[in-house]
Amino acid sequence: MRDTVKHQGLRNQLASVLKNKGITDEKVLDAIRAIPRHLFIDSSFEDHAYQDKAFPIAAEQTISQPYTVAFQSQTLQIAKGDKILEIGTGSGYQTAVLLEMKALVYTIERQHELFKKTSLFLPKLGYYPKKFIFGDGYKGLPEEAPFDKIIVTAGAPFVPKPLMAQLKIGGMLLIPVGDQKQIMTLFIRKSNKEFEKHELGDFSFVPMLEERS
Ligand code: SAH
Repeated sequence: MRDTVKHQGLRNQLASVLKNKGITDEKVLDAIRAIPRHLFIDSSFEDHAYQDKAFPIAAEQTISQPYTVAFQSQTLQIAKGDKILEIGTGSGYQTAVLLEMKALVYTIERQHELFKKTSLFLPKLGYYPKKFIFGDGYKGLPEEAPFDKIIVTAGAPFVPKPLMAQLKIGGMLLIPVGDQKQIMTLFIRKSNKEFEKHELGDFSFVPMLEERS
């Protein structure tokens, strides 16, 4: 599949849609304008790529809705050089947004099929995370901690303690918490023991599952 002027036009439109929904961080909008989302989904569904909708990918998972990706990226105030842990690589689209924003990304996926596919695919587009990990995001990545930001892109039934522990002081964990629907929840680490909690509204994610498969 190719990237064309038509795709670029559709991406610009998608960025306007997101702007109208409240995304104001120009770096996020620039990333949306830059990344060929149609290459992240099956070519027969190319027409859906620039609608603001989630979409099925392999292994019964989904590529998150662009608004959700933009919202999470904006909330985390991604800055150049931020060290970020991402739980739920999936299609790699959110990973690409973080990389476009010049973050250093460590990304974990528990589904082997997706891990394999995406770790081959992203470098083809010129996106290089620091590490792709096939593992269980509930455990985080203690050997690379602490992180400036941790982003979870699957619905978590509870907040995994290891993720809290792997945040820098001043760092942020953004995680959708809940079973059927999730509440987007932001934790800011104020000190070793203190976390400030903000609830940022309802979202809908595929469930975060334990262990690798
Ligand atoms: N950011 C991705 C979202 C994919 S959906 C995208 O936009 O494409 C959520 C992903 O989280 C799925 O790929 C799922 O397999 C993965 N996942 C679920 N539980 C996980 C866990 N415990 N550890 C790591 N990844 C997990």
